[in-house]
This record gives sequence, structure tokens and C-alpha cells, in this order.
Amino acid sequence: MTHHTGAPAPSNAGAFRVVANSSPMPEAEREAALANLAFGTQFTDHMAHITWTRDGGWDDYRVEPYGPLTLDPAAAVLHYAQEIFEGLKAYRWADGSVWLFRPDDNAGRFNRSARRMALPELPVEDFLASVTSLLAVDHPWVPRVEESSLYLRPFMFASEAFLGVRPANVIEYLLIASPVGPYFAGGVKPVSIWVAQGFHRAGIGGTGAAKCGGNYAASLLPQQQAYDKGCQQVLFLDAREDKFLEELGGMNVFVVRSDGTVETPRLTGTILEGITRASVIQMLEDQNVTVVLRDITADEVVAGVESGEVAEVFACGTAAVVTPVGRLVSPDFDVTIGGGQAGDVTMRIRKALTDIQYGRVEDPYGWMRRVV
Ligand SMILES: *Cc1c(COP(=O)(O)O)cnc(C)c1O
Repeated sequence: MTHHTGAPAPSNAGAFRVVANSSPMPEAEREAALANLAFGTQFTDHMAHITWTRDGGWDDYRVEPYGPLTLDPAAAVLHYAQEIFEGLKAYRWADGSVWLFRPDDNAGRFNRSARRMALPELPVEDFLASVTSLLAVDHPWVPRVEESSLYLRPFMFASEAFLGVRPANVIEYLLIASPVGPYFAGGVKPVSIWVAQGFHRAGIGGTGAAKCGGNYAASLLPQQQAYDKGCQQVLFLDAREDKFLEELGGMNVFVVRSDGTVETPRLTGTILEGITRASVIQMLEDQNVTVVLRDITADEVVAGVESGEVAEVFACGTAAVVTPVGRLVSPDFDVTIGGGQAGDVTMRIRKALTDIQYGRVEDPYGWMRRVV
């Protein structure tokens, strides 16, 4: 992935001053919380925060106590959704050290999202410094339990109090952190997927390739319909022809053919460029697996599942890593993939990726960056 480090306004690239939380969670309570983790419900004692103004650029770099923000009711984000975010994890290795996975790629993507949403770019070094500065104080929150991690959520939004429609002149960048357990309590289980009917995630020229809250808002109703059909996830097809696989609400999708070839939709501008997706492609290619990036119709996947030519389907993203798909459902079909069991290719790539992330094997790619 390419990195864009330019900022339209000068960066002050200051060190983050630390305003310590005067009542952090007591250690015993924190350790109890870390022993019993859900996803995204618990937050660390601090957050990183930088404010941008059109005249002054990025300023006031601080790590401050985690807590509610004061926001003017006219803050532009509440009306026009000028907002982007990222998601990455800090992993605790067996020796106690703490590592990030390809954080420069999150920083680069954050700036591509920023450009699409007319938000200021945040210099890559500032993005990375926000992560290391927060972890410098909150690293005890990185869990030690197997397959758990500290989920990091950088985000940026328009805080200016102004109801006119234009890019805001006051912007907040924040980084919060949430300890998370294994995404699947009780082991990895294949998920059932509902193919969205009459709804699309993104159109040509829209915001599909930007990691912005608006895409998620648009996915909630179809996601609700997926739940109503007994499925855990929704799969979106392309908006132009309503035929081609794009992605899930927050994960990219892969198809494993019975001859061992792996396919995934090519990037079209309407699909989010997952860092997990790019990593999976590279690792498979290095194992001499043929990976084909192309337009894939839902119909051919369903026919392939029925004929046996499609052996596995999986989804991937930072939160759930690699997730087997066991069933595809729509009003026109209901097919079970691989007997509803997780496939070998899926579980092998999942293990290969998490082995690197948790330092259980050598990282031949230089993807891991030590922070503590
Ligand atoms: C974040 C995200 C992904 C996965 O990206 P990763 O970098 O692998 O975490 C996929 N699709 C959407 C819509 C996303 O927002």
C-alpha cells in the first residue's frame, strides 16, 4: 500500500503531554476485567487527543483521562457525518512485549479516508506517536489471555459548531483502546451470511473505499435483516449490476475453489482495502497458492458450492481475523459450504496470520512493530 504523509496544514508534531487519570481502574479490578473480555465494552484509563484548526493545523497533542467529550449540539459531525476511523490491535507476546501489526498501513489508509471525507490528513508519524504514547501509559491493559488483544480505535471527526454544509474548520483526532477477547467465544465457528436484498453498501464514486461511519450506518438495516433471517453477517453485492460479491459489513470475502485456487473480489473503489485482505493474499501467494482477483458473481459461488467446485468461503478483517463462512442465504438459495465446517485452507491461513501477530513464528514480512 502507498503511504501519504503530506498534511494540508503544518504538523506541530509535538510530543504528547500526559494528563494522568487521577482515578485509574485499580489493578485487581483491571485484571478481573481482562480475565473476562467481551468486544468493545471496556476501555482503558486514557485516550490520545489532538485538535486541528484550519488556521493552526494539528495542535495540543495530549494523552488525557478517558471520558466523555463536551460537544456543541451544532457540531458538524452530528449533522453531516464528517467522520473516519481505523481499527488495529496491540498483541501481547509470551515474553510480555507488546506489538502492532502493520500500523503504517492503518496510518496510510486513515489519510486516504481523510481525503475522501475532506478531513485534514494526520502525518503518519503523529498517528503512530498517538498509539505509542497511549500504550506507554495504558500497556497494562493489553491482555495476556490467548487470542486476546487491545483493540485500538483511532478516529477523527468535525467538531466545529456550524450548520452550514462545508468541510469543518475544527476537527478532533482521538485514539481510544478496548481490551478484547477471542472474537468467537468457544472457538471459531462458521457464520451464516445473508445476501443483502435491495440494499448496497457503496456506489461508484461514493465512500465505499473510505473507512467512515456513514458506510456502517447504511449497513445496519440490511444487517438487521440478516439477523432476522438467522444469519450473523450480511454480504453486499455491487450496486451497478447487483451480481458481484463486494464484501461484508466490515470484512472482506474470499472463495476457495476445490482445485486449491483462492479468489477474492478485485478492488473497484467500492470495496474497503482490508489490511488483513492484503496480508492473506501475500501469505497465500508465498505458499504458492494461486490467488485470483476478479469480479465474482454470487450465482457462480452458489452453483460452485452445489457442484463442489467451491470448497470454502471465508471473511477477514482485524476484529475477527479470518472467519469461516458456513452458509449463504437469500430468498433464492440456501446453501451449506463444506458441510458447515470450517475448511482447512481457512483455518491454516488463520493460524499462519495469528502465529505472526502473537510472535509464535518468525515474521518474514517485517509486519510487526514492537511498542512496549
Ligand atoms: C475495516 C474494514 C475491513 C477490514 O479491514 P482490515 O484492515 O483488514 O481490518 C473490511 N471492510 C470494511 C467495510 C471495513 O470497514
